[in-house]
Amino acid sequence: MTRSICDKCQFVACDCICMHLQQIINQTHVVVLQHSSEVNNAKNTVRLARLMYRNLTVLIGENSNDFLYLKQLPLATTALLYPGTDSFLLDGDISDIKLTHLIVLDGTWKKANKLFFTIDILKQLRQVSFQQLPENRYHLRKANRSDSLSSLEAIAYALSCTEGLSMAPAYSALDAMMENQFKYMPAEVRARYKSE
Ligand SMILES: [Zn+2]
Repeated sequence: MTRSICDKCQFVACDCICMHLQQIINQTHVVVLQHSSEVNNAKNTVRLARLMYRNLTVLIGENSNDFLYLKQLPLATTALLYPGTDSFLLDGDISDIKLTHLIVLDGTWKKANKLFFTIDILKQLRQVSFQQLPENRYHLRKANRSDSLSSLEAIAYALSCTEGLSMAPAYSALDAMMENQFKYMPAEVRARYKSE
C-alpha cells in the first residue's frame, strides 16, 4: 500500500501540518540559498518557510553558477544574514538601513560556510546578524550549534526585527513538525529531546 503524501507540507496525509502553516505577508523579500544536499532532509525547515512567507524564494545549488539570480538584486538594499565583524545587528539599531532583500544561508554552519566561501557575490553584500538570539526551539538538528537557529526561526526573527512580524506562526509550524518527528521516535530517544 502506498502512503499518500501531502503535496504541500510533504508529510504523510495523516500527519499533514498544513493547518498549522499560517500565511504571512512579508515586505522584505527573503532569498534562501540551500545547498543541494539539504533538499531531501526531512528535518529541514525551509520547506515550511516556503509555504508560509509570501515573499520568499529558495535557490538550490552548490556553486556561483547555480546562484546567478543573485546578480539581479539591488546591492545597496540587499543584506546577507551572516555573522561578521562588521555585521549590522538586526535587533540593534537598524533605523538607517532600508532592506528590500534578505539572503539567508540554509543548513548547518559547515554548509552555510561552504556556500559563503563559494559564492563570490555574497562578499559584496552588507552582512547582518543578531545581537541576542531567541532561544533555539528546534533541537532536532544536532548538527546545529546550540547558539544557532533553524532557518525558519532565523527568518522569523529577522522579519520580527525589520518588520515587526510576530514569531508565533513560525513556532506553531515548528511545534507541529516536531510533534510529527517525536511520534516516530522510540520513547527513550524522545525523552532525551524533550528534556533539552
Ligand atoms: Zn500538508
